[in-house]
Amino acid sequence: MNIHEYQARELFEKYGVAAPAGKAASTPEEAEAAARQLGGGEIVVKAQIHAGGRGKGVFKNGFKGGVHVCSRPEEVREVAAKMLGQVLVTHQTGPDGRLVNKIYVAEAAQIARELYVAVLLDRASSTPVVIASTEGGMDIETVAEHTPEKIFREPVHPLMGLQPYQARLLAQKLGLKGDQAKQCAKLLLCLYKLFIAADCSLVEVNPLVVTRSGQVQALDAKFNFDDNALFRHPEIVALRDTAEEDPREVEASKFGLNYIGLDGNIACLVNGAGLAMATMDIIKYYGGSPANFLDVGGGASKEQVTAAFKIILGDRHVRGILVNIFGGIMQCDIIAAGILAAVEETHLHIPLVVRLEGSNVELGKKIISESGLAVISADSLADGAEKIVAAVKAAEKDARD
Ligand code: ADP
Ligand code: MG
Repeated sequence: MNIHEYQARELFEKYGVAAPAGKAASTPEEAEAAARQLGGGEIVVKAQIHAGGRGKGVFKNGFKGGVHVCSRPEEVREVAAKMLGQVLVTHQTGPDGRLVNKIYVAEAAQIARELYVAVLLDRASSTPVVIASTEGGMDIETVAEHTPEKIFREPVHPLMGLQPYQARLLAQKLGLKGDQAKQCAKLLLCLYKLFIAADCSLVEVNPLVVTRSGQVQALDAKFNFDDNALFRHPEIVALRDTAEEDPREVEASKFGLNYIGLDGNIACLVNGAGLAMATMDIIKYYGGSPANFLDVGGGASKEQVTAAFKIILGDRHVRGILVNIFGGIMQCDIIAAGILAAVEETHLHIPLVVRLEGSNVELGKKIISESGLAVISADSLADGAEKIVAAVKAAEKDARD
């Protein structure tokens, strides 16, 4: 799960991570009022979308830049009017861009240096790692490719946590001295505390800046949270902005389904992520193309199967469905009844191949064959994939003739 910058700022405040004061706004009037509240200095207006690269982004209305520095509150209002309700395209959004519903109005920092810091989970060492770089404000991937020597890493012992000496060492490697090194070390310790407390998988500050008056501040923030730990954090779940997500994935998550839309035309409904991957592979092997990844989980209740069918059928590219369920926790006869109920409720009109295996499989197959509905039964993974690819090709040929 991701959150917006203005929400990240609230977490920073709670954990003592220094950042310029600011306020979110949804209208140009609110933006102007926020600018007046922040006082006399320069103000930055920032489009709030779940993607980076906003500074260099371009709006579809031609307006350049999702981050603007303004000198007067009236100017803040004008810039806000050009951003709100408009679509911003950055190198991270893809060509469709993202609709800007909110902006963040913040004090502009007088930047002397731009640095980079992040905390993330490192798979190689199986520990959290704090990363710092002198090359802030740039794509860290580019820095890693061209000047890897400018990136510093401190692996963190998961039980001991980030140690003050490690934070000081990183500050020193960033070329900071005296009070600035102290501020930076403190900020890193707070950032690490936040990373652990909120079960993050990534906290990235790009840029972390040193201002001309010598303050060390976080100007940008990107968070990723571990979805499996969200049940512990209702306050973070409340920050979710479903307008930023694929509506089908949002609907799926309401029913505990793992759904990822793809661009093929054969929908898959499978229990278990491994089986789902294998099903997608074998559809490809037989010359078809999967329309989605859909794992209904171990339970696969009737409600889940019906919800899954509805989500699948909401995709206008879908020409056929392959159900591939292994009855373990849930028995095949119950799943078969669920499938039939879903077929009737959704008035299914495209080919459906069902492959069941596991407990009560004979009973499950019997229920399907006696239903009188046009469901094609399959005996193995290969048989199921071959049958659905053939059925979809036949249906497409019929449509052409
Ligand atoms: P993105 O990474 O999406 O482009 P950032 O928040 O990093 O967005 O902003 C882009 C650039 O705008 C920063 O690298 C920084 O130079 C400038 N900037 C961002 N916030 C401020 C601020 N509060 N004061 C001054 N400059 C800022
Ligand atoms: Mg940034």
